[in-house]
Amino acid sequence: MPNTEPVVTTAEILNEKARLVKNKSVCNFGLIAGASHENLSSISELSKAGAVAFKTYMVAPAKEREKEYAGTFVTNSAQLFQTMEEVNKTSRVHCIHAECDSTVNLLSEKMKKDKRKDPLAHYDSRPNFTEEEAVSDALILSEYLHAKTHFVHVSAARSVDLLSEAKQRGIDVTSETCPQYMIFSKEILEKKGPYAKFNPPPRDPEDIERMIRSLATGEIDMVSTDHAPHSNSEKQRGWNDIFAAPSGTPGVETRLPLLLNFVMKGRLKLSDIPRITSTAAAKRFGIFPSKGSIQTGSDADLAIVDLNQTWTIKASELQTKAWETVLYDGVEVNGRVKYALVSGQIAYEDGAGFASPGLGTMVQPS
Ligand SMILES: [Zn+2]
Repeated sequence: MPNTEPVVTTAEILNEKARLVKNKSVCNFGLIAGASHENLSSISELSKAGAVAFKTYMVAPAKEREKEYAGTFVTNSAQLFQTMEEVNKTSRVHCIHAECDSTVNLLSEKMKKDKRKDPLAHYDSRPNFTEEEAVSDALILSEYLHAKTHFVHVSAARSVDLLSEAKQRGIDVTSETCPQYMIFSKEILEKKGPYAKFNPPPRDPEDIERMIRSLATGEIDMVSTDHAPHSNSEKQRGWNDIFAAPSGTPGVETRLPLLLNFVMKGRLKLSDIPRITSTAAAKRFGIFPSKGSIQTGSDADLAIVDLNQTWTIKASELQTKAWETVLYDGVEVNGRVKYALVSGQIAYEDGAGFASPGLGTMVQPS
């Protein structure tokens, strides 16, 4: 994702990031570049430099995080229109973080005025309609521009209605949700405070239900993580004032076992898992069939899972530096990854750990 320091909005920075990651990575990776009305002239070069897709936020970041997001966000339709038009020329997928800036801003100001600093004020400042209207706006522009649009971390049930209707009308659109929107309702904010602060916020039981069901039906195409770790000290600031904590939660290590729990409960089929975690994304982002498929000629990037093993997630045993902020500590899961293979080589073995850094390569659309 582009929201790093420096933020990835030029080909030069993308190349530098690729160089840094390549030496450290044990898995393959693709780099998504930031796109907005502020870097229109860099978009073509970013695509040529190997950006796998582009991402645009439809909402401005919190003031103290502007540095990480500069040049990746738009705050009105004209800016999104220009950005979408330019990304479309590259034939790369345009990933949209759909939350409406003006209404999120209005409601956040209202929270401040009402002296609300409690965890649920985060939810109340970003209600479902703030996502739905952003989805709707971006879909209308996508249709007009014949753009290839992908909605990241969808959380609201009504957004899925809009996405399904758009698909039926032939708009080139896909979407994803994340485990946090399939598991937690807004009450998690009261229990876990700033640790449960992510954007969009956790929602209501009917939204959770819709996310799970839509993955089974294919209305939502895939499950990502929106992995966004922050240190414990950064997060703790939010206990006194929820708006003082950064948004985001780690999820990359827990996605697969959490999804397998839905299989065990009969909510998803085992055959849904490779589709929603791999094949759909590989097809959408132009890296199929070398990725997302098990067949002669494809790269052997595989996870080998013991489905009979039940175990409990212990946050302190996870690899993330932000383990103290993980929401799944103590959750019992079914299915344990025994091996992860990258191009047929063992990148990870349960109990033995990881292969040496540098095994992973940068993935680019063909
Ligand atoms: Zn996002």
